Amino acid sequence: MKPVAQISKYLRESKHSETLLVNQLSLNRADNNQQVFKFGFGQSPFPVPVEISQALAESAYRKEYMSVQGHPPLREAIADFHKIQEGKDWHSDNIIIGAGSKILLFCVMAAFEKAEIVVPAPSWVSYEPQAKLAGHKVSWLETTFSDKWKISAEQLDSFCTQRETPEIPLLLILNYPSNPTGQTYDSQQLAELAEVMRKHNVIVIADEIYSLLSYGSSGEKQSSVADYYPEGCIVSSGLSKWCGAGGWRLGFMYIPQALTGLLNTVIGVASETYSCAPSPIQIAATKAYQEIELADNFLIKQIKLLDEISQYCADELTKVGIKVHCAQGGFYLFPDFSNYTEKLAKQNITTSEQLTSALMNDVGVALLPGSAFGMNESSLTTRLAFVDFDGNQVNNNQVTHAQFGQVKSGIEQLCMWLSKL
Ligand code: PLP
Repeated sequence: MKPVAQISKYLRESKHSETLLVNQLSLNRADNNQQVFKFGFGQSPFPVPVEISQALAESAYRKEYMSVQGHPPLREAIADFHKIQEGKDWHSDNIIIGAGSKILLFCVMAAFEKAEIVVPAPSWVSYEPQAKLAGHKVSWLETTFSDKWKISAEQLDSFCTQRETPEIPLLLILNYPSNPTGQTYDSQQLAELAEVMRKHNVIVIADEIYSLLSYGSSGEKQSSVADYYPEGCIVSSGLSKWCGAGGWRLGFMYIPQALTGLLNTVIGVASETYSCAPSPIQIAATKAYQEIELADNFLIKQIKLLDEISQYCADELTKVGIKVHCAQGGFYLFPDFSNYTEKLAKQNITTSEQLTSALMNDVGVALLPGSAFGMNESSLTTRLAFVDFDGNQVNNNQVTHAQFGQVKSGIEQLCMWLSKL
C-alpha cells in the first residue's frame, strides 16, 4: 500500500505551522527547567467575564443542533452590538455564525470555484494555506517598514491593472488592526483603497477580529472598509479576541446582499462541514453581545493594559536600535532587526528563522519569524506577541510594570542578547 501518493501534494509538503513549532520549542525548554519568554503564541491573556462563563455553564443542556446560519437571537445581538460599538448597519439575515471566524474564511474561499486570493505581506499565517486548500492562486502585495507594513491604493490599483488572470474573481483579505504587525488603516486610507476596489470589482474580506481592541493614539474608533465599500465588503469577527474566548470557537461573518448568492453558498459549505457552531456557546455568546455595558468595561481595561505594555516593548526595542512601530491594536509588534544585519551575519544569522531559533536557544525568547507571515526569508523581521502576562490582574484604574509579568523580563533578555553580539 502506498497511501502517501494519494495525499494532497500541498498538504504533504506544507510545513507544520511555525506558530505551533515555537510552542513546542518553548515546551521543550520548560521541560528542562529553562526559562521561556512566550512571545510566539498570541492568545488573549484576559479571562472571559464571569457573567458570560456563567451563561455558558447554564446553557450546557442545550444539546440540539441549531440552524446552520446560526441562532437568530445571536445574529440579532451581533448586529445591534456592532451598530453601537462601530456604527455598522447590518441586518441579522446577512450574518452567519461559525465555529470561529477561521472556518468561515475557509468557507468563503471554498465557495468559489476559482479565485485569486491577494494578501499583503506580512499577513496572518492561515490565509495562504486556506487559499491553497481551496485550490486558489495566491498573490502577495509587499509592504515595508516605512509604509508601516500597509498596502497603498496606488499599489492595489497597479496590481489589479496588471493581473495575469483578470478572468477569475479577486478576493483581497485585509486585516486591521493586523496580526502580525499591530498596525491599522485610518479612514482616509480605507476610503482610498475602497475606491480602487470598486473600480476593479475586488471582493474584500475585512478581517476585523481585533477591531474592538484598537488603541490608536487618535482615540477614534476603528473605521472599516465596509464604511466606504459596503457592496463588496465581507466582514469577519468573533468572540476570540475582545472577549478572551478563543477556545470557545465562536466567530461570525457579515456577507452583503449585493454579493448575490454568496451567503447561501457559504451556508451550503457550512452545512456540509461543521453543521452549526456549538449550541451552548451560541447561547452564551448571545449574552456576551447583549451586555453592552459589561463589554465596554471589559474592553476599557484590556485596551489600557495592552496599550501600555505594547508601548513599553516598542520603546525598549527602539532604544537598542530595533525598528518597530507602536501597536495600534491587538496583541502584536513586528520588530525588524535589519539594523543588526552585519552583526547577525557574523553569527551566521541571515534569515528570520535563524534569528528566532538563535533567540530561543540562547535566551529562551520565543518570537515567530517574519517568513511565517509571507516575508522574504532574508528579511530580519519577527512577530512579537506581548501577551505573556496574567490577564487576571487587569485593573481599571492603574497599570503598573508589575502587571507586565514575563513580558518585561523577556524584553530585557532580548536587548541583552543583542548587546552581546
Ligand atoms: N484572523 C486573524 C488575523 C487572527 O489572528 C485569528 C486568530 O488567531 C483569526 C482570524 C481566527 O480567529 P477565530 O477563528 O478564533 O475567530
